Amino acid sequence: MTATISSAPDSLWVPELNAFSPTKANMKQISYWLDTASHSFAQADSERTELSLPGAVEALVVGAGLTGLSTAYHLALAGVRPVVLEAHHVGWGASGRNGGMATTGLSISLQAAVKRFGEQRAAQLRQFYNDAIDLLEIISEAEGADTEFRRAGLMNLAARRGHLDHYQREAELIGALTPYEARFLDREGIAEEIGSSAYFGGMIDPAGASLHPVKFLQTLARGIERRGGVILEGVRVEGIEQQGAGHAVRTDRGTIVADQLVVATGAHSRRPFGWLQRRIAPVGSFVIVTEQLGADVANALLPNRRVCSDSKELLNYFRLTEDDRLAFGGRARFMSKDIAYDRKSAEILQQQMIGLFPQLGGARVEYGWGGLVDISMDRMVHSGTHDGWWFSEGYSGHGVQMATYMGKVLAGNITGNTDNPWQDLPNPPIPGHLGWPWFVPVAGLYYVARDAISK
Ligand SMILES: Cc1cc2nc3c(=O)[nH]c(=O)nc-3n(C[C@H](O)[C@H](O)[C@H](O)COP(=O)(O)OP(=O)(O)OC[C@H]3O[C@@H](n4cnc5c(N)ncnc54)[C@H](O)[C@@H]3O)c2cc1C
Repeated sequence: MTATISSAPDSLWVPELNAFSPTKANMKQISYWLDTASHSFAQADSERTELSLPGAVEALVVGAGLTGLSTAYHLALAGVRPVVLEAHHVGWGASGRNGGMATTGLSISLQAAVKRFGEQRAAQLRQFYNDAIDLLEIISEAEGADTEFRRAGLMNLAARRGHLDHYQREAELIGALTPYEARFLDREGIAEEIGSSAYFGGMIDPAGASLHPVKFLQTLARGIERRGGVILEGVRVEGIEQQGAGHAVRTDRGTIVADQLVVATGAHSRRPFGWLQRRIAPVGSFVIVTEQLGADVANALLPNRRVCSDSKELLNYFRLTEDDRLAFGGRARFMSKDIAYDRKSAEILQQQMIGLFPQLGGARVEYGWGGLVDISMDRMVHSGTHDGWWFSEGYSGHGVQMATYMGKVLAGNITGNTDNPWQDLPNPPIPGHLGWPWFVPVAGLYYVARDAISK
């Protein structure tokens, strides 16, 4: 079969299959999550593009990823009828393309956080991530939705012998400073947890979880619409101007005046949101998903179905799906012409997967896709107001739960209810970042070198 690649790098929807995989199998170049979400998603999709643009609204949200939809969902719960504008469709950005892993902890270790913030604040910041994972479960249950939420636990894996001490100290610190228990694993312990001999040990944090991110997004979207909120797809915001106490928001379909404006454009922030863009490194990350492996093979890979990530600088992350496939991700290449369909990255990932799990040498790779992760310079979330509009970004690989949580925080801020845990952190632009993230491949080479010398 001839490979067909979309000429529009912005579009994730490529129905044709291609034949590049080393196993010579056809691979869908689309997120497994988008492909396996319910039919009502496609149905709602077309309806949402046909809605007419309102002239004035109380609260306007730009971006229908987890940040934007969770903000709108919590506004709707509070009795506000939000309007969401999305340039593509619900879940088009990182929120529909991630690994669906809700990992406990900040993007830096608790040890590093203690050095930076002191024990009390570090433990407090870490707690927000646990609360954020709880929120995924609370919303799923409250909406009566099967989002495939599973409290499987997070397993961090030591890819080098020298990384073991780090996990031992981390597990002790979590036990000492937080109400949670993490379990250190030595080489024997790890053998019971994973069907790979590549790892030296690691740590299990039982509070980690997995879910189907697009089923979760759909749950939020339905929750918004059921309460009178509106989601418009295929509407791009092109300019904003302050107008009195509110904002005039210019789109490719007309102008809306909004009392409150939330910009939730994540790693896809471009003009007119250059201020957000300059504070984020949009780093490419990629995921492949195997064919259905069957329960026996899946259970032999990860008997407790934990969500896993390893200790390399350019880490691999993986988990099982509910239909017994392995979803395997990593930062295979730092940049590519078309991040959504990077063939080379999928090939690299497949080789890495087989290196860790030789038993998957014959397994077909059925899906492969990429996306942009919103990495902040200090790996912390940044959220607050700029020019009178609200924002939250910089989840640095932990956005599944934290973007959802920050939606609740932003909605609370708008309706005058709660604090914002991150609002006091300094948030300067990345030095030299004027739009095109030229520094990302340079940083990539640096991390490749660090992995090469790490013992
Ligand atoms: C491959 C990959 C794997 C990942 N794995 C994990 C994981 O396992 N666990 C985890 O916690 N995190 C993971 N992440 C990170 C996580 O997915 C993100 O942090 C999170 O989804 C960010 O959500 P968001 O709503 O802020 O941004 P996005 O989901 O990117 O949404 C932004 C939206 O804004 C829209 N938009 C942009 N500009 C405009 C405009 N001008 N007008 C209208 N709309 C606009 C875009 O179309 C897009 O839909 C992963 C990310 C990637 C890419």
